[in-house]
Amino acid sequence: MGGHMTPEEFRRYGKQVVDWIADYQEKIESYPVLSRVAPGEVLAGLPEHPPETGAGFEAVLADLDQVIMPGVTHWQHPGFFAYFPANASGPAILGDLLSAGLGVQGMLWATSPACTELETRVADWLAELLDLPARFRGNGVIQDSASGACLVALLAALHRAGGGSPPARAGFGGRRHTVYISSQTHSSLEKAARITGIGADNVRLVDVDPETLAMDPAHLDALIAADVAAGAVPVLACATVGTTSTTAVDPVRAIGEVCARHGVWLHVDAAYAGVAAVCPELRWINDGLAEHADSYSTNPHKWLLTNFDCNLLYLADPEPMVGALSILPEYLRNAASASGEVIDYRDWQIPLGRRFRALKLWSVIRWYGAEGLREHVRTGVRLAGELASWIEADPGFEVRPDRPFGLVCFRPRWEGLPPDEADAATLRLMERLNDSGALYLTHTRAGGRVLLRMAIGAPATRDAHVRDAWRRIRDEAAAGP
Ligand SMILES: *Cc1c(COP(=O)(O)O)cnc(C)c1O
Repeated sequence: MGGHMTPEEFRRYGKQVVDWIADYQEKIESYPVLSRVAPGEVLAGLPEHPPETGAGFEAVLADLDQVIMPGVTHWQHPGFFAYFPANASGPAILGDLLSAGLGVQGMLWATSPACTELETRVADWLAELLDLPARFRGNGVIQDSASGACLVALLAALHRAGGGSPPARAGFGGRRHTVYISSQTHSSLEKAARITGIGADNVRLVDVDPETLAMDPAHLDALIAADVAAGAVPVLACATVGTTSTTAVDPVRAIGEVCARHGVWLHVDAAYAGVAAVCPELRWINDGLAEHADSYSTNPHKWLLTNFDCNLLYLADPEPMVGALSILPEYLRNAASASGEVIDYRDWQIPLGRRFRALKLWSVIRWYGAEGLREHVRTGVRLAGELASWIEADPGFEVRPDRPFGLVCFRPRWEGLPPDEADAATLRLMERLNDSGALYLTHTRAGGRVLLRMAIGAPATRDAHVRDAWRRIRDEAAAGP
């Protein structure tokens, strides 16, 4: 050992690895969903120092089984209902393997033309599958995450607000810049405001409707007007389609009208729910995008069967983003870029280098077709609807009424307990359920109360798994607080 793995060795070990993954898929239900290791346990199982001499790949697979697997939480387990799903699928895994096999770094068109052009094509395919507006066609790019996408959008918005010249000096010319979100907006927006130097103090919290938790456009209007009057430069508002906490949907059209009046960039964060628009019956979530969205992002790596990481960012006009992010050192100059006929996606993201991520999304779309993708989303929506109807029918429980996607938020009523004690009891119930190993739930707080979140959407989750989870929840709650 110690030399490069020959193609012959790769073939042998590669087949073992593929078998290992297929075995894992077959026996995934035999694992407890949530890893049971204590902090430091995996670390302690690993040698403190790297080996001096190489070993066969059998040794890696043996350690994988003995040391690593106990510390793995099984996101593809059919009882995984925590956070949002992070779907994996056979075609996505194989597409990722091909990407690794090619080992391409696609920073420029010239560094691998297919890496750029396949990405342009699949971004358009996804836009068509989701029926996104024409203004986004040709203007999509794969990012690592929705967080990265909103940072890029904010940089583009800052560039536009600054009149289109890249910031040469720190401090935005001495003017305060502001960003508008709600209490339900994902934390990545505040993070982006910190990273850009806008600062968390200049992030305005727009009120939400107390029932639906949707952003109030009239309050947004008032906040922007007050900031303008105070001499600030309003830069970007973020509307969310499917908030992380409860999948609330902001009124994108009304928010967009406010943004248009004030010349504020509208970013629409549809990280989890955006892909639901593969189903025509859910396309109402795209309302207002065609007229008002400057940027839009959704994560095939959550609910659309594509292994993490794969976020799609679409721009109505890529120019301010490229203006904000393009720097051309001598060593990257090349004839293709100079011709203006090609896209260099390095100017559409924070890092320079980029993986050939389009391969896995391409594999997924080709394998499933629009039909298969719709079927997957519909299964999640149907199972969530059935679960919600069982919870609703149980007088011991309360369920949030708005649940258009795969997430159901609910809590036991714990009749007779004061709110604080009831919330603590709900959290204890969740811990007992998660300790059982059969399922994994997380929680949120909405309307001042702790709620359990059950997000359905793992490809392996079927009717029986949801029924079994509900039976466990009901029985465990019946055992008392
Ligand atoms: C999950 C989520 C994000 C963050 O997604 P990453 O891709 O992990 O950065 C952002 N916004 C919303 C609404 C989300 O649900």
